[in-house]
Amino acid sequence: MMAQTDYMPCTYCNSREHGGEIFSGLDKQLHKVCWKEDCRAKHKRESSSVSFQEKMKLKMLHKCYYEDFYGYCESKAVKGGTLCIDHLTRRCDMCGGQAFKICKYRGYKDCNKPLCMLDFHSHKNDP
Ligand SMILES: [Zn+2]
Ligand SMILES: [Zn+2]
Ligand SMILES: [Zn+2]
Ligand SMILES: [Zn+2]
Repeated sequence: MMAQTDYMPCTYCNSREHGGEIFSGLDKQLHKVCWKEDCRAKHKRESSSVSFQEKMKLKMLHKCYYEDFYGYCESKAVKGGTLCIDHLTRRCDMCGGQAFKICKYRGYKDCNKPLCMLDFHSHKNDP
């Protein structure tokens, strides 16, 4: 099936060039983004709004939207809250505030530490 996706046109510029990255869009269909810089920039913008919409949906369904390496938790959120009991107790590794995600850094040693909405680890100097 891989060969077929090679001939998919880029969703943004319609170029049928080989290579690029396959992703599933809001319409749940497979799309392709080529390696051109502006196509990748558009895709990045779009996919961050996808995760925003996903979060809003989970919020409305009262499901926990704590994000770990495998995606959103989706357990039942505590009454009036947006996270499950388990994740409500996670504290940001940087500021000690409520954590909403883990650091997805994968390296010599995986990070996995909880972080709030705003903080992130750079891991620039890690091996
Ligand atoms: Zn393109
Ligand atoms: Zn949770
Ligand atoms: Zn923080
Ligand atoms: Zn980290």
